[in-house]
Amino acid sequence: MVTTETKEPVKKLLVIMAHPDDAELGCGGTLAKWIRQEGKEVYYIVCTDGSKGTKDRGINPHSLAEIREKEQEKAAQVLGVKGITFLRHLDGELKADGALCYELATLIRYHRPDRIVTHDPWRHYLIHPDHRAAGLATTDAVVAARDHLFLPALLAIGLEPHSPREIYYTFPDIPDVISDITELMEVKLEAVAQHKSQMGPMSGWQDRVRGMGARLAEKEPFAYAEIFKRVEL
Ligand SMILES: [Zn+2]
Repeated sequence: MVTTETKEPVKKLLVIMAHPDDAELGCGGTLAKWIRQEGKEVYYIVCTDGSKGTKDRGINPHSLAEIREKEQEKAAQVLGVKGITFLRHLDGELKADGALCYELATLIRYHRPDRIVTHDPWRHYLIHPDHRAAGLATTDAVVAARDHLFLPALLAIGLEPHSPREIYYTFPDIPDVISDITELMEVKLEAVAQHKSQMGPMSGWQDRVRGMGARLAEKEPFAYAEIFKRVEL
């Protein structure tokens, strides 16, 4: 299986993830490929502040949130991401409610992406609540961004309806896009490495990232992969 493109080339992407580091770990190699080799424009939305992502008892959540935003900015720079919106919801407490859905729908109408990348909320045993919430709210937001009778206030301020052509869900149970990231693995590792607060305390994280890429490419003729479920809209 290989990456497939819809008829019109995809130019602009919006990557909507729960935490700083989710984009790089989930699809950093593929994002680097799309940006560097295919000239696509990528924007991030990071839903939470990442303020619970530590085992260090000496750091307070507010400082951690600031550190993680800076790390996310550096990681995005490595890949060539054009811009990031930090929604700064509390880590661990993200809810796929109307407020988040409408917030995301507003940004979808603003950015007008051809493709959206997010967590797969239907993956079995997806433990982290923020990953489920971000994936679900993004899916709901795609509908609210598309249909004009949702969010009349947005129409009033000139944000016209918009539908991306497809959604790519990361880490699905049943992938239908296996992206070859062999040439981009080192770039992915460099981007992930920017998340020092997360990777620093973890010994051998590079081998784990490489190992996961190799597992996902097990049945393929290349060394490392990232996987997606593609839903055409
Ligand atoms: Zn996460």
